Amino acid sequence: MVAATGMNDAMEEKPDRIRALGLLSGGLDSTLAARLLLEQGIDVACVNFHTGFCIQSHTGAIRNPKPGAPPPRHDALHAAKNLGVKLHMVDISADYVRIVTDPKHGYGKHLNPCLDCKIFMVAKAWEMAKQLGYHFIFTGEVLGQRPMSQRRDTFPVIDREAGVKGWLLRPLTALRMPETEPEQRGWVDRNRLEGFSGRGRKPQMALAEKLGITDYPSPAGGCCFLTDENYARKLRDLWNFRNTREYTIEDILLLKAGRHLRPAPHFKLMIGRDQSENLFLSGFRQGRVMIRTKNTAGPLTLMEGDTTAPEDRLLACRIAARYSKGKDQGKVVMTIDSDGFSETLEVTPLPAHELMDHWHV
Ligand code: SF4
Repeated sequence: MVAATGMNDAMEEKPDRIRALGLLSGGLDSTLAARLLLEQGIDVACVNFHTGFCIQSHTGAIRNPKPGAPPPRHDALHAAKNLGVKLHMVDISADYVRIVTDPKHGYGKHLNPCLDCKIFMVAKAWEMAKQLGYHFIFTGEVLGQRPMSQRRDTFPVIDREAGVKGWLLRPLTALRMPETEPEQRGWVDRNRLEGFSGRGRKPQMALAEKLGITDYPSPAGGCCFLTDENYARKLRDLWNFRNTREYTIEDILLLKAGRHLRPAPHFKLMIGRDQSENLFLSGFRQGRVMIRTKNTAGPLTLMEGDTTAPEDRLLACRIAARYSKGKDQGKVVMTIDSDGFSETLEVTPLPAHELMDHWHV
């Protein structure tokens, strides 16, 4: 077998078995791309990268599903199982920080550095492919589908900057692109690839039906918190008030749960919206102040930042009480836990008109 080398030796003999490694999100496009190659008898495996910003794997785990909603699942694993292919699951979250904090090609609509992200993932996949003996890599990208990274002028940028020129096949849009090495070498039959373009999903859905693929997630579900307006605002707030564009995995996990309020520049509150978020937040109480209601049902609140001033703690308790069942009572008893100390405080819930809109991050 010939291992992938990235060399331009068009005379290279055809390997006995062509092996391809694809980027698989578990959405319809990447599933179809893998399936088109499987249909040609190519030995397909996939890779799914964990950036720390994946919506489905975290939100599904933190919040209870709505009544009647299907249980959360990992789309890429589910798709790989249905395709019958091996899935490499790779955590790139540590190296990914510099992609989010300092993207060479800038951000999309929110804090999504899609072009840098794609270059990074393609480069990682190609590195893996060469190490593991895959002959080429593929993605489910479609020309014109995403405004930042899936354009005629950005595909060559991805290929060039990821160092994969000629060795990245996009089976769903291949007929609109120059031939790649695997096509030129006769490893992949170009006539059995597609020439999809644009944002519409109908051609993909028709192909899915033709191939008998019925179990795929809705594209409206979203896959990345960095494209989410609310999430991006919370991440910007974190950077602004720390005066640095850095983050830890703990930071970005906490941005996924609870209401976030910043009543003053030096502290913020994270208030659980249901029992599952309360439980989740309680796991991060170390190094923060944890506030709970004592004599009525209410949220668990974490206070973070400079939390020492008694007047700030009092305000935090009054805000937390505002979100409790006792919000219309005269007094609510709160428990404050910090650094191993526990105290109780009886407070008047903050009236609605004193809860400032601009506190909401
Ligand atoms: S949406 Fe998120 S994961 Fe997808 S390319 Fe953009 S930054 Fe990367």
